[in-house]
Amino acid sequence: MTKYRCNICKEVIDSVGVIKHTDEKKIFVLCKSCSKMYEPINYSIEVQVVPVSNETFSNILKTKKYFFPMHYRRTGGKFFAFYNTRDSGKIEYFAKVKQILKNVEEKDLPYKIDNLRNPKENSLFKVYLLEEVKKLDKPILKGKSGAIQNIRNTTIDKLKNSTFLKEL
Ligand SMILES: [Zn+2]
Repeated sequence: MTKYRCNICKEVIDSVGVIKHTDEKKIFVLCKSCSKMYEPINYSIEVQVVPVSNETFSNILKTKKYFFPMHYRRTGGKFFAFYNTRDSGKIEYFAKVKQILKNVEEKDLPYKIDNLRNPKENSLFKVYLLEEVKKLDKPILKGKSGAIQNIRNTTIDKLKNSTFLKEL
């Protein structure tokens, strides 16, 4: 009988009871307990721009992981672009989402939370595992528009060809 390895915990599992999800060309094989943590990637949004502090951003670079509480009305996208709020704020880096875990407890987060907006007691989190974090050829500057405080959805094309936030 074919044996599979769970995509999240890497345990070997039988084909019986295995859940398979197909997004893009990948097949995810998950054991029963990990399937409770599985969140499909939102392919309907190409790039979601999110504001992050400089400290959070350096943790993203180090761990290739990004997270926020489940109660945030934020869906993510195929890519994240990070609006670093340091100085007057700019977007310099972006990353493709590889996999999403949901219902993650605070104790299992990849790094310490830094200044959470709208915190809630005992929040559960969505953790985004990222591919390589890439630098844009030229940063996107805040210009005269307001800072990004929640999210902004855009396209890869605009991300690569904009000079100021208002062009996104
Ligand atoms: Zn598993």
